[in-house]
Amino acid sequence: MNRSPIFTALITLTVLTLPLVTGGQTRFFGGDPEDKIIRKAKRYNLVAVKDAVPGAYIDMRYKITSAANKPLYLKDMPCLAHRSTAEKLKKANAVLAKSGYAIKIWDAWRPPEAHHALWNAVKDPKYVVPPSKGLSWHCYGISIDLTLVKTNGEAVTMPSRFDEFSDRAASNYTGGDPEIAERVNLLQQTMRDVGFRTIESEWWHFDDMTAQGGIRNVTAADLGIKMP
Ligand SMILES: [Zn+2]
Repeated sequence: MNRSPIFTALITLTVLTLPLVTGGQTRFFGGDPEDKIIRKAKRYNLVAVKDAVPGAYIDMRYKITSAANKPLYLKDMPCLAHRSTAEKLKKANAVLAKSGYAIKIWDAWRPPEAHHALWNAVKDPKYVVPPSKGLSWHCYGISIDLTLVKTNGEAVTMPSRFDEFSDRAASNYTGGDPEIAERVNLLQQTMRDVGFRTIESEWWHFDDMTAQGGIRNVTAADLGIKMP
């Protein structure tokens, strides 16, 4: 039987790619739904913080509750950030480790669907960007809410709880506890040093205004994420 070179090439290509296809399908059908979301997110330049930032802790508070008095995320909501922002987080975490601390992420990429729910609950432009003015930078994966913990994950006292919309949320701490002052100053300074912008109204919020490449508003629907 005479085979054309093209036919032979096609057969060879099929045999060579078969394990890849089979491997992909195995993961697809038997895999974690979070992995599926993470693969989709990569197309939008969003990466999983658990993979991109070694040693960071993740505690997505909106899985538990929110200012709307209800969870904004379901349990399978991954912690995603813009690729460029995640690189800065990695640097910050490495710097903080020298002082015995690690970052613990409270929120990162936030689907616009959740941002609207938050605005409807808070309705204070000091703390949440009004939808009439556009979206939060969280919706682009370049804003991160985080706190400090010890490198072993143990909690430390910070100026306020997450989303405590009061004067205690200020990044310029005036509460008088020297340990808290030292921690919040270390966090603010380290985040600025690696390229984040800090804001006066929330000590836990950081913007990456120098993220490089492919910054897009991504919805939960784009990534196949169900919302509560
Ligand atoms: Zn924030």
